[in-house]
Amino acid sequence: MAVVGVLALQGSFNEHIAALRRLGVQGVEIRKPEQLNTISSLIIPGGESTTMAKLAEYHNLFPALREFVQMGKPVWGTCAGLIFLANKAIGQKTGGQYLVGGLDCTVHRNFFGSQIQSFEAELSVPELVSKEGGPETFCGIFIRAPAILEAGPEVQVLADYPVPSSRLLSSDSSIEDQTENAEKESKVIVAVRQGNILATAFHPELTADTRWHSYFVKMSNEIREEASSSSLVPAQV
Ligand code: GLN
Repeated sequence: MAVVGVLALQGSFNEHIAALRRLGVQGVEIRKPEQLNTISSLIIPGGESTTMAKLAEYHNLFPALREFVQMGKPVWGTCAGLIFLANKAIGQKTGGQYLVGGLDCTVHRNFFGSQIQSFEAELSVPELVSKEGGPETFCGIFIRAPAILEAGPEVQVLADYPVPSSRLLSSDSSIEDQTENAEKESKVIVAVRQGNILATAFHPELTADTRWHSYFVKMSNEIREEASSSSLVPAQV
């Protein structure tokens, strides 16, 4: 069986490997660019995206990570991993940071606030339930969590979360707009898929529910089978 690589620079990589193990799938820690050649799918865990980006830069991982994504290989980013995969990140306190990119969306890095504003919420994820079965909802654990504010047409929204509309108004919107929208509810996006990229703003690896990991493993197998039948990528042995 193919192994799943887990970027192991910082953050919850051990928890992802443990969740894969519960499914009988081997997860391997990835720290060097050349190791990306030995795996066919990759999880980028949650943690702290600036720290992770600095470590990835130090290990010269960005070119290899970008190539991995651009080759169409399956990648799943959770929380800080989602930020890594976004084409655009906003909400940094200082400066910017390197991103791997590939996911056509704008993510707000700390949309849901700081550590003490972390929370759990039952999310409705019809795609997950239709493929994996189980309970109607999934318990999303949001830790200093990001949210997707805009997504391109090729991005499939898998889950969203209600927030007051006033949270989404730009600072240049008028007072009238802000007052009018203050009580209304909008939604931000918290789980998406775009082809070979899966991204969640929350941490499935911190729950006992392995449905997201199972979904990613199946998605990876499908992509690998398609690629080997069209001979774009050599088949795994
Ligand atoms: N918002 C955090 C960041 O900017 C990510 C938090 C997480 O991965 N739990 O990196």
